[in-house]
Amino acid sequence: MAVPKKKTSKSRRNMRRSHHALKPVAYNECPNCGELKRPHHVCPSCGQYAGREIVAETAQVA
Ligand SMILES: [Zn+2]
Repeated sequence: MAVPKKKTSKSRRNMRRSHHALKPVAYNECPNCGELKRPHHVCPSCGQYAGREIVAETAQVA
């Protein structure tokens, strides 16, 4: 069985785990309405994706 030759130092262990940190959720501006939307998702405020393609009609009542 493969066994590590040296003990992993606290520094190395913590440097490795720094890559496990959660990143903030990405947001882009919708090119149609300017609202913040998640990339590769249909805009929740205007229901458009990739410019003209209307995927979902959002309720305009409010
Ligand atoms: Zn939009």
